[in-house]
Amino acid sequence: MDLGALISRHVLFPLHSRREGSDIPRLLRELEASQWWTPSALADLQLQRLRALLVHAGHNSPYWRDVFAAADLDPERVQDLTDLRRLPTLSKRDLQKNRERMRAPGHPDRLLPDKTGGSTGEPVEFDLNEGRFHYRKAVAIRHDRWAGWDLGRKSAYLWGHRQDVAAPKSTVAKLRARLMDRHIVLDTSSLSVEAFEAFRQQLLTFEPDVYIGYANAVFLYARFLQERGGRYHHPRGVITSAEYLAPEQRAVIESVFGCPVYDRYGSRETGLVASECGHGDAMHVADESIVVEILGPDGEPAAPGERGRVVVTDLLNHGMPLIRYEIRDVASPVTGACPCGRGLSRLQMAGGRVTDFLLALDGRIVSGASLTIYLIANARGVAQAQLVQDTRDAVTVRVVPGDEYESSTAEWILGELPRYFGDDMRFSVEEVAEIPLAASGKHRFSISNFDPTDLF
Ligand SMILES: [Zn+2]
Repeated sequence: MDLGALISRHVLFPLHSRREGSDIPRLLRELEASQWWTPSALADLQLQRLRALLVHAGHNSPYWRDVFAAADLDPERVQDLTDLRRLPTLSKRDLQKNRERMRAPGHPDRLLPDKTGGSTGEPVEFDLNEGRFHYRKAVAIRHDRWAGWDLGRKSAYLWGHRQDVAAPKSTVAKLRARLMDRHIVLDTSSLSVEAFEAFRQQLLTFEPDVYIGYANAVFLYARFLQERGGRYHHPRGVITSAEYLAPEQRAVIESVFGCPVYDRYGSRETGLVASECGHGDAMHVADESIVVEILGPDGEPAAPGERGRVVVTDLLNHGMPLIRYEIRDVASPVTGACPCGRGLSRLQMAGGRVTDFLLALDGRIVSGASLTIYLIANARGVAQAQLVQDTRDAVTVRVVPGDEYESSTAEWILGELPRYFGDDMRFSVEEVAEIPLAASGKHRFSISNFDPTDLF
């Protein structure tokens, strides 16, 4: 490790954490220890945190007070994690309709507002308390370490949502980014052959240890290098996230870069849920902050190896408790110990989160996954949306109107689309009562008939 990395890790990072009052170094030390605890010790910690969350929610959130009363649940008497099952699950529509009443202030932390278009095109707005925000950062650092990154080491984000990895503005922030954060951001919201050539040059110059990116964008960059050949940079590890990573995509990425892929699963509402450790073919859940339930069609827990829908309880977002949140992904539980020795529970993803790239006439490759954030999250009153490209010169946005939907929303969407696709395409907004599942049973946010690799 070079001198810059050592200074970053041992001097700048602790100083910065102290200045922002985040306590991330302490949280990280705790998380580094607890990942090796036994499953039963981790379950005890979860129960203690669950009870604290439910008690806080019962005292401070009108929404949850009503839900607990209807379920006859006294938070003080919760004895077991399975008591959670007495509560109904929380849908994205519930969250869309009840954000105000769901908040549970009465907590010393600031509330940070956020929103997402979501992997299924159902936009939600929510809040996060600041302590939870810092805890998320500490969890991400722990899981990034599994992939060969560490504090002070360099990383490159192939990311479609620029605000997530904010570009520094002030001189101090720029200096900090260079000395401490040591990352670059390659914007994948709109791609092209020229953009990929620019990525190649930037990565050769910066030499990051790890790439962190949207699964489809990393895969497409790997395919680009495979087709075009020439000299390019090889990282020590690749972390994929935000979209479903198909086994054949993983194989291409691993062969092109000659390093392992560590797939990760999370959502904007709950933060990192689970990620691969490099041993075995399952993901470890961040049990200290999240309770994951995987439910079969009857609402009962799925058996090991059986597929079910993922329901997440965020144990630490006291500002806006998300309890039994239907995240709309499919996974199966995995039992038995992982060869790595960690006690964190495990799951295996089973598809879901399918987004295609759409192709503009001018050669731009537009990431469906980032359009959920840029476009749909900001469209007022949309309950659910889907982008469809049947012909090369046209894009249709299907919209399920929500309570606050107005005709101006459609006009706003039509005004935004040329920013991503250029002026020479036809756009339309189609209002529909519902968006059917694909034949595979998956939600698809974007569907395109065109394969971007044809451009390489
Ligand atoms: Zn493991």
